Amino acid sequence: MKKSILSLMGVFLSVFVFAQETSHDAFIVRNLDNNTERFSKVARQIWENPELGYLEFTSSKLLIDELKTAGFKVQTGLAGMPTSFVATYDKGGPVIGFLAEYDALPGLSQDAVPFRSVLVDGGNGHGCGHNLFGTAVVASAVALKEWIDANNIQATLKIFGTPAEEGGAGKVYMVREGLFKGVDAVINWHPSDRNAANASTCTAVMQGYFKFHGQTSHAAGAPQRGRSALDGVEAMNMMVNMMREHVDQESRIHYVITNGGLAANVVPDYAVVEYMVRHPDVTEVKDIWQRVIKAAEGAAMGTGTRVEVEVVAGIYGLLPNETLAKAMHKNLTLVGGVEYDQQETEFAKQIQASFNTPRVPPLSVAKQIQPYQLTHFPASTDVGDVSYVVPTVGLGTATWVPGTAAHTWQAVAADGMSIGYKGMMVAAKTMALTGKDLILSPLLIKEAKKEFDERLGDVVYEPLIGDMAPPLHFRKDQNKVK
Ligand SMILES: [Zn+2]
Ligand SMILES: [Zn+2]
Repeated sequence: MKKSILSLMGVFLSVFVFAQETSHDAFIVRNLDNNTERFSKVARQIWENPELGYLEFTSSKLLIDELKTAGFKVQTGLAGMPTSFVATYDKGGPVIGFLAEYDALPGLSQDAVPFRSVLVDGGNGHGCGHNLFGTAVVASAVALKEWIDANNIQATLKIFGTPAEEGGAGKVYMVREGLFKGVDAVINWHPSDRNAANASTCTAVMQGYFKFHGQTSHAAGAPQRGRSALDGVEAMNMMVNMMREHVDQESRIHYVITNGGLAANVVPDYAVVEYMVRHPDVTEVKDIWQRVIKAAEGAAMGTGTRVEVEVVAGIYGLLPNETLAKAMHKNLTLVGGVEYDQQETEFAKQIQASFNTPRVPPLSVAKQIQPYQLTHFPASTDVGDVSYVVPTVGLGTATWVPGTAAHTWQAVAADGMSIGYKGMMVAAKTMALTGKDLILSPLLIKEAKKEFDERLGDVVYEPLIGDMAPPLHFRKDQNKVK
């Protein structure tokens, strides 16, 4: 008898918990549905004024204004970057962090139409959807804040405005500054052509310039008096190319000669080669980078030149967290994917017709949720450094027509219209629900931290960039010959 009463009570309790949970979910989803128009406008405003890395003054201000209006306290210009910010809503409890990106790409100017139509010759464009990225995070945080208020919950939200993801690696400087200390978990997302909340690894990367200095001379009249800086570059490249046979399979080494001299009849006294070294394991990247430096030194010695190395970026790969990713996948499934109306279907068909490839995924992919898996992304993101100091989780949503690659005009087009906004709101809802789960479940945070510690093992995080300052002028300097 007693037993049956107890089990009946158990059923009541679980029904009660379930009802509580669904009412929390409903509050958050309703809040975001009600704010779709408001945040679509913010995303469109950032899209209309695409700003490059470290120059995102208007874009960051738009997001800051939204957060201030909602009651967040905002600090700006952190870690030596004028366009960075941290917005805090402090009600004690667990601290949940969010990453917001908002920089654009050069040369990708495009109207929000399903055919190539440049708005500004040589202008910038949001080809990676960071206008949606930053806006979804702000929408998500504002919804969570209102849910915290409505339910008198103890929790702290921190929104990190991270400049210059595209090449400037702004997050690395914020991590080095210690801004993520005390944060229990970090949530982020990225625009995509499909909906997936997978745990993912990616590659760590070191990037830098090898600047060779030689001696000019008449290449025909007095070649013996010259020492060619370009010889230094070529000798270095030859040695590194031989080295490829003796590095781990998953390594990637790429280079371009950014300065190879100016005239064939003048022995060049200055030549520069830019290198990137990648591997999923950061210690491998460090080792290979040292070997590349040795090749440069050997090349300089053999060609009678001198070499100096200028590191421009160094970022960690992603440390996946399956505990958090599975929680996020559950929420993404609950929210559902992107559904097109008639107009959007026509737009999407026209975009797909421009791909010029025989294998195009069906439009229905935008609606589907990809099955959960642990994946590997063979490129790099500065979220990597964050994931090495705090358990971090991310997702992708179908802001782009299925089959669209990042950094294309087709991506820019969708980022400035309703398909992009719909995907953005799927992300905002999924992130907010996951934030809510973390706030309500100390066990989830504990499990995530346990996995974080296990995966980290004996790796001690130290930034690959050393003590270098953020390259605030890198976009302005880009067109100058290095
Ligand atoms: Zn990108
Ligand atoms: Zn991106």
